[in-house]
Amino acid sequence: MTKPLTISAESSEPSLARRTLLKGAAAAVAATGVTMNAALAASVAPLGQTGAPTRSTAPLPLGPLPGSRYPDSHLESAKKGPPSFGPSGFPAFAGTMAVERVATGFRWAEGPVYFAAGRYLLFSDIPNNRIMRFSEDDGHLSVYRQPSMNSNGNTIDREGRLITCEHSGRRVTRTELDGSITIIADKFNGKRLNSPNDAVVTADGAIWFTDPAYGIGGFYEGIKAEPEQDKKNVYRVDPKSGEVKVVVDDFVEPNGLAISPDEKKLYICDTGFTDGPDNPSHIRVFDLDVTGGKVSNSKVFAEMPKPSITDGVRCDTEGRVWCSVGWGDPNEDGVRCYTPSGELLGKIHIPETVANLCFGGQQRNRLYICGSTSLYAVYTSVQGAMKP
Ligand code: MG
Repeated sequence: MTKPLTISAESSEPSLARRTLLKGAAAAVAATGVTMNAALAASVAPLGQTGAPTRSTAPLPLGPLPGSRYPDSHLESAKKGPPSFGPSGFPAFAGTMAVERVATGFRWAEGPVYFAAGRYLLFSDIPNNRIMRFSEDDGHLSVYRQPSMNSNGNTIDREGRLITCEHSGRRVTRTELDGSITIIADKFNGKRLNSPNDAVVTADGAIWFTDPAYGIGGFYEGIKAEPEQDKKNVYRVDPKSGEVKVVVDDFVEPNGLAISPDEKKLYICDTGFTDGPDNPSHIRVFDLDVTGGKVSNSKVFAEMPKPSITDGVRCDTEGRVWCSVGWGDPNEDGVRCYTPSGELLGKIHIPETVANLCFGGQQRNRLYICGSTSLYAVYTSVQGAMKP
């Protein structure tokens, strides 16, 4: 299958830097209802920044991507014949499943998390300093929180509470069931964190998060500041004591992370390539000792085709690894799927740079994809691993 894209990518992000309340501040959170449809999508005013809308040309319509017909050519198998990826092989997709653009109007979308109880998806629009909410029942889009402290990665713990990484807050927070916000981590060794980027929660309640410096590099996606930490670490927050400990300290820029369904593997993206051409652009995998709160046996799981990087990663119930791809060759923009042993199964082509993804839907079989200015979704024949 050849590269199927027939759509202008129009990547116009002004900065490669990306990726992040207390009760009093929570009162300032706006719950502005914005009904999004194709006509309105192009005219939604940016709420956190001033100036011109992100796109100056006609936006892509919502719905299936233009030019698509079943089977959707945006779903590419790495191999022909089973085990494969597309409609004719490995059954990741049925023939009538297609990539859809379900919402647009953002400057940089990242950090999706699905709440099954409410059938909605939350995700960050970092430069606009807001968390958006996409309601799955009718496609209604609204602002969940603004200001969001330039939130980036979001996840959900086993009690159904929102966990958020904040750039300008330089902290990880938890939104309690009553709506109040608790600071989970904002310092290590008495010094402020850089700009927490992405988080995952294991079944024991421990929160694992990455802390690169993207969110303090300027004023577009956070507040410019000098790092106080010597390194860009991956941390674990103990579920009982709340103690913050370093798990890994040898990443250039630790970014997205995911846990295998058996909780025996931890995957972490390194987007260090943004800091220099000789730096990594890959996913590393570790043996995970959940009880001990430690990792070991670091290996490179998958190399990305530089200059592309992978910002986010998720597992399905069979341990396959799904990751984002973006910032390089537009032909590589989208999602990749790997076997647990690292064999590439296939790609989902998206007409914008992709940051993060997560499984949602009532059967956890709908893959939501944050692609720059838009939210994409595709039903799959697999199910996401995370069971909040
Ligand atoms: Mg990220």
